[in-house]
Amino acid sequence: MLTWSYEIENTSIGKIERIHETPGCFYRLTDESRLRLQVWPASCFRCGRFTEAERIETLEELDAKLAQLRDPERRGLILPQLRFADPLLIEQLIGQCELRRAWRQTRVSPAKCIECGSTEICLLSGNEPISHPCGVGELVVRISLSGGISIRYEILVTPEGDRLPLEPS
Ligand SMILES: [Zn+2]
Repeated sequence: MLTWSYEIENTSIGKIERIHETPGCFYRLTDESRLRLQVWPASCFRCGRFTEAERIETLEELDAKLAQLRDPERRGLILPQLRFADPLLIEQLIGQCELRRAWRQTRVSPAKCIECGSTEICLLSGNEPISHPCGVGELVVRISLSGGISIRYEILVTPEGDRLPLEPS
């Protein structure tokens, strides 16, 4: 299974930390269905370290993505492979995006740290060096895909991003 990993380098002190995407994070919606939670590397003030946090798009971003998915000419802008993808897959992606949009409409709280639930977080953007949000120095974040061992547990959170107890598998 391919997962994202993040390498965060503090260029001022030459320290590199790596964190790996937690696969299997889902919102448990009110009808018991699940929606994949998008994680993003963050600096959490409460945890006092780099963690992962929710990445929450705006409704406008989701509408733009839906419009792209529905347009065969522009679909490839999301991912080149989508240009020639199976129509069933496209339908699934549109369905997931609509579900995400419906969830987003009801979501009230800002993005939370998936470790501790704090909203005092700072999402780390890639590409450009940024100054350390809760420390000293400058950070460069590199994101890459890596083959990982698939982890068996799942993290479930409420639609507002609060952790639910682990379910026995
Ligand atoms: Zn935290």
